[in-house]
Amino acid sequence: MTNVYIGLGSNLNNPIYQLRKALQILETIPATHLQNHSSLYRSKAIGPKNQPDYINAVAVLSTKLSPFNLLKKLQDIEIERGRTRKGKRWQARILDLDILIYGNMRLHTPKLILPHPELYNRMFVLKPLYECVPNLILPNGQRLIKKVQLLPEVT
Ligand code: ATP
Ligand code: CA
Ligand code: CA
Repeated sequence: MTNVYIGLGSNLNNPIYQLRKALQILETIPATHLQNHSSLYRSKAIGPKNQPDYINAVAVLSTKLSPFNLLKKLQDIEIERGRTRKGKRWQARILDLDILIYGNMRLHTPKLILPHPELYNRMFVLKPLYECVPNLILPNGQRLIKKVQLLPEVT
């Protein structure tokens, strides 16, 4: 089993509901256990302007799936929840599920980059990650605590 951290985000169709639902669905992925998850946090959208705020969280999984098989499952869940992929990057979406960290794997392929390339730059990821695993050492060797700033919790 490999420890995996998933970043969840939504800013459409009742984002709080979308994240709660997504956490339930993560429990049903085969060969995978949902170990823990953070509270829900609110953040400002990046990318195109005039988008609703995001709700974000982090889930901790352990899995026997390969990173590519896990990514496929996550993308299936995004589609099942009604996400459509068209138009601009970073547009509003019902559900986004990113693999932040997959064990100590480093990958750089067109389909999958591990750790997630924006992991170190996004407070809406670092803050809930810190809540789940306060003593986590990031893949770059930094301790999480140094990165965390205040972000409003919604639940
Ligand atoms: P960002 O990657 O900046 O968070 P995004 O989540 O909005 O942007 P998407 O449109 O959801 O981007 O995904 C674009 C592609 O990113 C996916 O098709 C997937 O193949 C690829 N990808 C690369 N690395 C990862 C990763 N670690 N987790 C999820 N998707 C990834
Ligand atoms: Ca994302
Ligand atoms: Ca994504």
